Amino acid sequence: MTQDFYCDEVLSGKTQVKVVMETNNVMAYHHTRPYYKHHIVVIPKIHIQSFISEEEENNDELLLEMMQVIKKVAADLLAQTGSSKIVTNLGSYQDSKHQHWHIVSGERT
Ligand SMILES: [Zn+2]
Repeated sequence: MTQDFYCDEVLSGKTQVKVVMETNNVMAYHHTRPYYKHHIVVIPKIHIQSFISEEEENNDELLLEMMQVIKKVAADLLAQTGSSKIVTNLGSYQDSKHQHWHIVSGERT
């Protein structure tokens, strides 16, 4: 896996994804290799390293837009399945250094 899968593969269009929801600055799509039955990834369309990062601290409007998309996707999963979980990884837990949120539900695959 590359250091920044999201810029290099998803946002560049190199890897095709199934988009769930998209706003001006945020994209939600079905994980290309899901580890839950329902697994959606939410990313900012511009490069932001992490949820806790300088770029993030200076961009409250984008943060709000991210949260609105995350909330909508999680609400849809909740309505569909009765449960959902929202996760973002930081530090050594974060594999690709581009902010991304996992919204999951259902059995692990
Ligand atoms: Zn990036």
